[in-house]
Amino acid sequence: MSTDLWETLKSIGNAMEVNRLQRETEEAARQAAAAAKAAAGAPQIIARYLTAGGATVDVIERAGYFDQDGFTETHAACSGCPAKHTVEWGWDAWAAEVGQPQENFDEGGNRSTPQAREWAQEHAEKCRAMPKPEAK
Ligand SMILES: [Zn+2]
Repeated sequence: MSTDLWETLKSIGNAMEVNRLQRETEEAARQAAAAAKAAAGAPQIIARYLTAGGATVDVIERAGYFDQDGFTETHAACSGCPAKHTVEWGWDAWAAEVGQPQENFDEGGNRSTPQAREWAQEHAEKCRAMPKPEAK
């Protein structure tokens, strides 16, 4: 094999390796972006209250509309009984269309979340339902 041919094959090999690494890097970046988006859209537990019966009331912030990435409501739910309570932040369909929250939208749940926490606290104090048994 001539040295020229060897060098040519080597450079082709290097180019293929560079392409492969580039594809892998792009794929990793895509996966990281998807994970970040999923994490951003996943409901966040922001408070948990222990009930009188030993169950919990979890308070979460979440997207209340399927087509919204950001959070639009605070939701509290008891793990011992069916009680739940949702405080919407005021997002509406029109807001999504114009691309900005409506004027009275409670950005970040600053007013709504304390209301949901208050409900959760009150429910936790009086709820005597035991945690549901784990499904086996
Ligand atoms: Zn309850």
